Amino acid sequence: MCGIVAYIGVRQAAPILLEGLKRLEYRGYDSAGIAVLDGALNVARTVGRVSILEELVETRGTFNGSLGIAHTRWATHGGVVERNAHPHLDDNTMGHGIAVIHNGIIENYESIKTWLVEKGHSFASETDTEVLAHLIGELYHGDLETAVQAALREVTGAYAIAVICATEPNTLVVARKGSPLLVGVGKGEYVVASDASAIVSHTTQAFSLSDYTVAKLTRESFRTTTLDNVPVTPEVRELEVDLAQIELGSFRHYMLKEIHEQPRVLRTCLQGRVDTRTGSITLGGIGEHARTLANAKRIVMVGQGTALHACMVGSYLMEELAKVVTEYDYASEFRYRNPIVDFGTAVIAVSQSGETADTLAALQEGKQRGALALGVVNVVGSTISRETDAGVYLRVGPEIGVASTKAFLGQVAVLAMLSVYIGRRRFLSQEFVQQFLQEMDAIPAKIERVLEAEESIRQSTARFVDRENWLFLGRGVNYPVALEGALEWKDISYIHAEGMPAAEMKHGPIALIDKGMPVVFVATRNSQYEKVLSNIEEVRARGGHVIAVATEGDDYIRTKAESVFYVPDAPELLQPLLSVVPLQLLAYHAAVMRGKDVDKPRNLAKSVTVE
Ligand code: GLU
Repeated sequence: MCGIVAYIGVRQAAPILLEGLKRLEYRGYDSAGIAVLDGALNVARTVGRVSILEELVETRGTFNGSLGIAHTRWATHGGVVERNAHPHLDDNTMGHGIAVIHNGIIENYESIKTWLVEKGHSFASETDTEVLAHLIGELYHGDLETAVQAALREVTGAYAIAVICATEPNTLVVARKGSPLLVGVGKGEYVVASDASAIVSHTTQAFSLSDYTVAKLTRESFRTTTLDNVPVTPEVRELEVDLAQIELGSFRHYMLKEIHEQPRVLRTCLQGRVDTRTGSITLGGIGEHARTLANAKRIVMVGQGTALHACMVGSYLMEELAKVVTEYDYASEFRYRNPIVDFGTAVIAVSQSGETADTLAALQEGKQRGALALGVVNVVGSTISRETDAGVYLRVGPEIGVASTKAFLGQVAVLAMLSVYIGRRRFLSQEFVQQFLQEMDAIPAKIERVLEAEESIRQSTARFVDRENWLFLGRGVNYPVALEGALEWKDISYIHAEGMPAAEMKHGPIALIDKGMPVVFVATRNSQYEKVLSNIEEVRARGGHVIAVATEGDDYIRTKAESVFYVPDAPELLQPLLSVVPLQLLAYHAAVMRGKDVDKPRNLAKSVTVE
């Protein structure tokens, strides 16, 4: 959650910081703030978007200086009011002019606060973060790096922080534990940010900080240490994000851009991995663990939100193709339910950002209990990717829209490849694999066909968009698709929607159905099709309005549904890659019609780095 940007160098800091905040705004956006050091600290904070902060900085006109920090907040502790926005400062009267921005949660903030209050500190906000500013101030004896190290030895929880001090104009101190932080290394300057999107326009050289590591950056050099001041050497690498990937281009919203990118990025995801000619699959990231994986007795897939839905589809793929017992679970639940994990278990953590706190913790829990730890993530070099034994990247490019679209497709595609990869090492014939891979290879072109129907999907959306309660139903492999449809619906349109297995409707939710209630069925032709038709009849009998996602050529369903969105035919296990696309468009257009901020829905953040 939240975005951090910090700069030290020779250029004006404020424009770099503000540009960075805009790029990171999708991560959290309830308030924003900036501090620039120019002899004294200049601080501006505001509730609302970065554009408001920008205006404030412009009006004040005092933000000169080449050292500064800036933040977009996603509130965890303390309401969304200006005094809780970052940067936070150490004590007004007894302080040293220390300013801190923070992403994460300081879990033991209350006890530290009590101690600091006893020492005479008075607090201006309700945040956990302010405690950190005062603590660093309390422990400051003329050296910021030492004070930050000492303060962080006292705190528990998660943090990515950037700290400056009025009396040290050539020092920027940053540190992390749990929350993401990347240090971009330029010529005589450093740009620090929560992710690469705020860095790539300045430099493509960067290093990630490991947990419990502090970096002291000056205009001339940097040094990284543990909290106990033991030097550590980070690995500087080339960032793979290029600027064009994170620009909006001609699209109105990132979500729409990302929906339309799906055919192309899916091709990239499959490229070099799927060989339809030889019927073989290459997953470089699995490497030496291929055997252990092929011999796994059990697979547990963990994720949150959309990623969990991808895990659910993945479990069907894995059981069917690899014949390995596969479970899925919310990472947050798995972690705390004392799960049974042994050496024959592989845990697969699925996360777009690779930073999802719950998913990371579940992975670590599994690993600690002896499981092989695998990651299916999008962001190269992210924390989850670094914590795993092996993994497969999505390669779908940066996803900025908060509602996940292309990452879901990438996750399902990767889990499909992984299932075939294991299956082939167990009992799948080369012929079967060859045919299956050809079907996978054909999916991107089929998605292009679905996207051509966007206008008719938009028109159907208009007919129902004023309804306040929706149901999304599907069976088998389309059940997670129904869940995903409902989740997107809630996320960006703020319309109440529930997703569930179509058969489950009879066990309660059917009571909700009255005249005109929209019920979306994912009803593609597959082994459960006839059963879904019966469920459609049950809804119709009660006056519900049926909207169906169906297979091209299915004219019959037209007689049963108010609206039908067609997708090309595909093998049952691959149908989610197609059937989810009309639901993405439906959610997108509904949100636009209802005047919502599609890319920045209220209360949400793209990368959930707190538990
Ligand atoms: N816990 C801090 C707060 O509520 C930081 C939240 C964030 O990561 O934006 O201010």
